[in-house]
Amino acid sequence: MNRKKLLADLKSGKEYDVLVIGGGATGLGVALDALSRGFKVALLEKVDFGKGTSSKATKLLHGGVRYLQNGDVGLVIEALREREYVLTQASHLSHIQKFVIPHYSHWQGWYYWAGLKTYDLLSGSHSLGITRKISKEETLELLPNLKKKGLKGGIEYTDGQFDDTRLCIDLVSTINKLGGTVLNYCSLDSFTYDESGKINGGVAKDEMTGGTFEIKSKSVVNATGVFAEQTMALESVDTDIKIVPARGSHIVLDRSFLQSEEAIMIPKTTDGRVLFLVPWHNVVIVGTTDVVSPKLTMEPKATEKEINFILKNAAQYLERKPTKKDILSTFAGLRPLAAPKREGLKSKEISRSHKVVVSKAGLVSVLGGKWTTFRKMGEDAIDKIINKGKLPDKESKSEETKIHNGTPKQTGEYIHTKLPYTWNELEKYAKEELVETAEDLLCRRTRCILLHKQATLDVLDQAIQLIARIKGYDEVWEEKQRWNFAETAKSY
Ligand SMILES: Cc1cc2nc3c(=O)[nH]c(=O)nc-3n(C[C@H](O)[C@H](O)[C@H](O)COP(=O)(O)OP(=O)(O)OC[C@H]3O[C@@H](n4cnc5c(N)ncnc54)[C@H](O)[C@@H]3O)c2cc1C
Repeated sequence: MNRKKLLADLKSGKEYDVLVIGGGATGLGVALDALSRGFKVALLEKVDFGKGTSSKATKLLHGGVRYLQNGDVGLVIEALREREYVLTQASHLSHIQKFVIPHYSHWQGWYYWAGLKTYDLLSGSHSLGITRKISKEETLELLPNLKKKGLKGGIEYTDGQFDDTRLCIDLVSTINKLGGTVLNYCSLDSFTYDESGKINGGVAKDEMTGGTFEIKSKSVVNATGVFAEQTMALESVDTDIKIVPARGSHIVLDRSFLQSEEAIMIPKTTDGRVLFLVPWHNVVIVGTTDVVSPKLTMEPKATEKEINFILKNAAQYLERKPTKKDILSTFAGLRPLAAPKREGLKSKEISRSHKVVVSKAGLVSVLGGKWTTFRKMGEDAIDKIINKGKLPDKESKSEETKIHNGTPKQTGEYIHTKLPYTWNELEKYAKEELVETAEDLLCRRTRCILLHKQATLDVLDQAIQLIARIKGYDEVWEEKQRWNFAETAKSY
């Protein structure tokens, strides 16, 4: 992918069918679906693909077992179907994952078994495996570090797992290869309108140079996640839905705390939520929390209180208990929950389903949702545009679109003993995947910072020099990267 070419296309003055704002899961789902119907698509991402929430998920492809407790059956069925889409069309970045719910009373065992059997039933033909009630002995065989005292057995069920930001990047490659124009470090500054007051495009800003230019489009989609209300405000949209940002934090531990390929699902934490311990690459991700966080930021940070909460709840289920000094990294994201504008709902009570709303001037906003359902969210947004008569009725074929595999074969030396990437991979990403900063390379083309913060800082200088060599940047640029990365690393 080539920034100059993509910019030239955006500046060419041609009219697009769909202009998408936001390069996270939602925006990429919209662009993918529009393209599958043969529409001309452009997408602008202000910072980097997945820089917002889409790099900070728990990495589960799931229907959401716990949404069943809220009676959100429709959402669960939809997500189970979409889970299969990702597992099929992005099989290089996703896989089937087994989970065990340990139980310490027989009553609990039957209760969770019944819930997960319902989950199986709802999966129907999309089922990935049958839920099993397993003995204490088998549970401990599968999860040797599980707390033994009082254990009665486990329930084993199946879901999916993926690499969230690699999926973002491979979606960008897929869309650009199929003729779309998707670019990072390029934002929407303001909307443009026709004589009847309808949106007919926007003014874009090249964030690398500060230059602005106009883009014409028959429709514009706001897919800016927790920033959706800010984007709507550019157009003074008033809807009866508001975005409630809710922070979810994770800690990352060494695999020895799990000693298993199976994940643990703790069904009830001290605040009544679920907590996952999931093997991912060479580590274990433990999370998450759910804290309403009115402050909008690209890099939210796990608080001491959240870290203590996660450690305490995980420790209750493990023989060898993790402490603060065992934490390899932390990461936190803001859930863009779409809630009715009435007071009093706790974030865990707000439905995770997505909403598509259209303003008087025609701005289409896709709100809420989850990673697993990104394709369906895109399909719904484009259906809405067609229903409003903005585009001709063409059938969605996004379900049939295979996602490009951008991960090269590993050859040569690993960049660090604690990081599962080689220098040849980093070089390929820096050359081909619209990398502009060390953070792009170490946080989103690879997942180094999430896997091991100190090891990432150890290789930072070499990574900066690699990018500088490829792009011909000077020492001033290198110094700025060092400073910027140190700032970002404070949130991990
Ligand atoms: C802690 C946590 C765990 C989660 N775990 C899971 C999980 O395991 N499985 C699952 O399915 N879902 C999960 N989710 C949900 C999922 O991650 C989100 O629903 C999804 O990533 C939201 O994507 P988005 O594209 O809407 O938002 P974002 O990823 O935030 O993307 C919005 C983008 O818009 C850009 N932007 C803003 N303003 C502008 C502008 N003016 N011009 C151009 N671009 C702009 C931003 O830079 C940003 O990149 C989790 C969420 C959280 C917070």
